[in-house]
Amino acid sequence: MLEVINAKEAEVGGLTVRRAFPRRGLRTVGAWCFADHFGPEIITPDSGLDVGPHPHIGLHTVTWLLDGAVRHNDSLGSDQLIRPGQLNLMTAGHGVVHSEQSDRQRTGSLHGLQLWIAQTDDTRHGAPDFAHHAQLPGVELGNGEATILLGEFAGQRSGASVDSDLLGLDMQLTAGSALLPLRTDYEYALYVVTGDLTAAGPSGEAHIGPGQLLPLPPGATEVTLTVPDQARALLLGGMPLEQPLFMWWNFVARTREEAAQASADWLKHWQEGDDARFARVDSPLPAIPGPALP
Ligand code: MN
Repeated sequence: MLEVINAKEAEVGGLTVRRAFPRRGLRTVGAWCFADHFGPEIITPDSGLDVGPHPHIGLHTVTWLLDGAVRHNDSLGSDQLIRPGQLNLMTAGHGVVHSEQSDRQRTGSLHGLQLWIAQTDDTRHGAPDFAHHAQLPGVELGNGEATILLGEFAGQRSGASVDSDLLGLDMQLTAGSALLPLRTDYEYALYVVTGDLTAAGPSGEAHIGPGQLLPLPPGATEVTLTVPDQARALLLGGMPLEQPLFMWWNFVARTREEAAQASADWLKHWQEGDDARFARVDSPLPAIPGPALP
C-alpha cells in the first residue's frame, strides 16, 4: 500500500516553502532529514529570499535551483552565487554559519529546493566545509533525463559526496514511462516538483502531483513512473539510519543536550560576538537569533 503525503507550508526568509519532511511518521529518508521546496515565485529588487546568518551543526545542506540565482555566504569565507544545474554542498560538522539571499541584480522567478542530510557519527563533530559543484552527471531515462545530485545511479556517480550512503536524483520527464532500478537495502521517497505522474511498484501504484511526497517501502527492486504530459521529480534514497536524530531549529544532533549546547553557543555569538564555535559571516543581513529550546 503506497501512501501519498502532502508537503506542509512554512515560511522561510520571506518565502513560502513546501516542507515535505521531517514530519510525524516520516522523520528521515536514509540520511536525508529535511526537504524544503520554494517557489516558483517572482522576485523583485525589494522582495525575495533573505535568510540572514544562522548556524548549523551535524548536517550537510544541499541547495539545488530550478530557476533564479541565490548567493551563499558562510563563516568559512565562501561567497558563491548558485544557478540552476549547480549544487551547493555545505558541511556543518561541529559548527558553521551561513546566509542565503536571492541575487538582487536579477529579478524574475526563483524556484528551488533545500535539502539536509544528517552527518554520520564519524564526521558530525568534525570541521565544516563548503563545496560548489558547477557540473553534475546526467543519465538518460526512457522518457527524459536525470541529474545525479549525490550518490550513484545507472553506473554514474556524482562528483559531490557525503559520508552517508545515499542517492539524490532530479528527473525531468516527458510523456511516457521510466523504469528506475532501486536498491533493496535503501529506503526511498519520490517528491514531485511540477507536473504529475503515477508510480507503480510491487506494493501498488499511486498518483502524485506537485508538492506531494511518496515514500517507497524498502525491498522493491524497481519502480515505474508513468507521466501523462511532463513532470519534474526528485528521487531521494539511502541506507536507513540506525540511530534516531534529535533535530532542533537548524541543529541536527542525537541528544537534547547537544542541541541545547549549540543553542547556547549561538546565543553567545549573537549577543557577544563570541566566535569560539560559530563565526561571523560577511552578509548585509542581520544574524537570526535562535528560538529557545523548550
Ligand atoms: Mn541554513
